[in-house]
This record gives sequence, C-alpha cells and structure tokens, in this order.
Amino acid sequence: MTTVAFIGLGNMGLPMAKNLIAAGFTVRGHDVVDACRAVAADAGVELAGSAPEAMEGADAVITMLPKGEHVRAVYFGAAQAADGSQPSNDDGILAHATPEQMLIDSSTVDIATCQAVHDAAAAKGLHFVDAPVSGGISGAEAGSLTFMVGGADADVERARRLIEPMCGNFFATGDPTTGEAAKIVNNMMLFVAVQGLSEAATLAKKLGLDAKTFHQIASVSSGNSWALQTWYPVPGVVETAAVNNEFSASFRADLALKDIGLALAAAADHGLHLPATGLSAQRLAEAVDGGGGELDCTVVIAAVDPDAEG
Ligand code: NAD
Repeated sequence: MTTVAFIGLGNMGLPMAKNLIAAGFTVRGHDVVDACRAVAADAGVELAGSAPEAMEGADAVITMLPKGEHVRAVYFGAAQAADGSQPSNDDGILAHATPEQMLIDSSTVDIATCQAVHDAAAAKGLHFVDAPVSGGISGAEAGSLTFMVGGADADVERARRLIEPMCGNFFATGDPTTGEAAKIVNNMMLFVAVQGLSEAATLAKKLGLDAKTFHQIASVSSGNSWALQTWYPVPGVVETAAVNNEFSASFRADLALKDIGLALAAAADHGLHLPATGLSAQRLAEAVDGGGGELDCTVVIAAVDPDAEG
C-alpha cells in the first residue's frame, strides 16, 4: 500500500488527493485551514496536524500550495519563510524527509524558490521534483491534469507512478526547475492571449461583426487559440466563458496576476523585456486593484470595452 502525504488541500489539492485515494493510495493530508481539513476528512483523507506528522512513514510527499512563500515555509520551516534565513531544521519537510521518500511540488511558484528547494534537497541526499500542473479544477477533478516534471531523470521516473492517477499528460521537461519554467511560460502565453482576445472581441463588435459569426471565422482561421475556444469574452458565444456568468471565476484574476508576475520576474533575471506580457500584467493588476481579484481573469475586457457584459 502506497502512502502519500498531501500538503495543501485547497481547490486543486483536494481533488488531486481524491484521485490518489480512488487509485488505492492512502492519503495523509494537512492544510492550515479548518474548512479544507473538514472537507478532506469527509473525502477519505487521514488528517495530520502538520506536514512532518503527515510524512511519518509515507512513501511520498506532494505539496499543492498557493505561492513561493508558502512552499518555502513548508519545505524549509517557518523561520525560512519569515526572514529568508537558513532552514530552521524543525518544522519543515526537508528536515524530516528521508531519501526513501519522493518529494513532489505541484504548486506554481517562482524559479528561485523552486531552485532553492532543489538545491537544499540535493544537499541532503533527498529526491525532489518540480511538477506543476495545467488543466484547472476540472482537470484536477477528472484526473486529467497535464504535469510538467523537472528534476534528475531517475527522480522524474520515480515520481511518474505517484503522479499517474492525477494525470492526463506527463511531460519530463529536463533539469530541475524546467517543469516550473514550462508552466510559467505557458500561462504567460495564455494571459497575453486573453488581453489580445479582449481587444479583438471589442474591435469586432465596433466594426459591426456579429460575435458568433466572427468567432466561427477565427476558429477556423489564423486567429484561433485555446483562449478563443474556451474563454471568448462576449456573452452567448462560448458556453464555458465566464462572461456568461458575471465573470464568476474559472481562473481568478489574482492568480493570473501571480502567474504572469512569475514570467516577468524570470524574464528580468535574464535581462529580457517582454512588452506584451508587461501590458497584460498591468491590465490584470488594474482589475485586481479595482476589487476584481476573485473574478475571472477575462474581466480585463472591461478596461477595453466599458459595455462588456458580465
Ligand atoms: P488554494 O488556495 O485553493 O489551495 C492552497 C491550499 O494550501 C489552501 O487550502 C491553503 O490553506 C493551503 N496552505 C497554505 N499554506 C499552507 C501550509 N503552510 N500548510 C498547509 N497548507 C497550507 O489554491 P489552488 O487553486 O489549489 O492552487 C494551488 C496551486 O496550484 C497554486 O500555485 C496555483 O497557482 C496552482 N494552480 C491552480 C490552478 C487552478 O485552476 N486553481 C490551476 C493550475 C495550477
């Protein structure tokens, strides 16, 4: 029987944990939020009071946490999260893990945090991969997520069996941090596309085009994209678009801003100037600052077309 310690049982983590349970794994979970713990217990997760407690005797540890600061706190211990100092060596995963345990982080975080965990794990002889995902909550529920997995070849292969019940597509991306890099660049393309889509949909309307007709044309022409097919921000055109539902989030604007910020930070580290990405980030920041952080990221169309419905 395989036992997995699952840390972070939120919107993504809980359905991922459920798929591990459905595959016959024992899942011992921890989350800092009582409501998440209660729902997880109902779903068959054995609750633990902390990450180290969840890890005792487990074959693997999977983390699904919001941001880099949470990943640092959980891997290095609270002292590292607070002041960036050396690991506290008490309450972090790295202080308790053994080489027999496979460590997998599926959170979307900055490259520096990802590299820091890889380095610290390697220094202790531990086995860690970065394995962020794409596919959203529906993909997590369906067990069809795309995993992008970076790390030493042997560790990536070892992680594959543990990831399989949650996974539709598995990509071994190469060296440490390359899984995170793939995820960050993919989402950067998505949010730049959302800004382009907002501008295109608005101009098409102003030029007198019927929205459904234009959508059909673009769908079989060079303007096609995943965002066009899934999130076209004009009501009544695409069933899955949040604009049909007052911008109730399918992908929250504040999380989109976090992800595009990771791309800009990575670009800055390499001396790259990404103007289209910068503009998309600015528009998302304006939406978040205006109180729309929990709305869908396609709410950015409101800054282009004040008459956009939602
Ligand atoms: P979420 O906020 O719903 O869940 C994160 C959970 O981590 C929360 O329940 C929180 O209480 C818990 N947590 C925070 N600090 C903790 C700690 N110290 N110990 C234990 N638990 C702790 O977020 P989510 O939507 O599940 O996203 C998780 C990650 O996956 C993020 O990095 C996100 O960018 C990424 N992601 C999300 C989606 C999506 O559609 N929601 C899609 C792909 C990737």
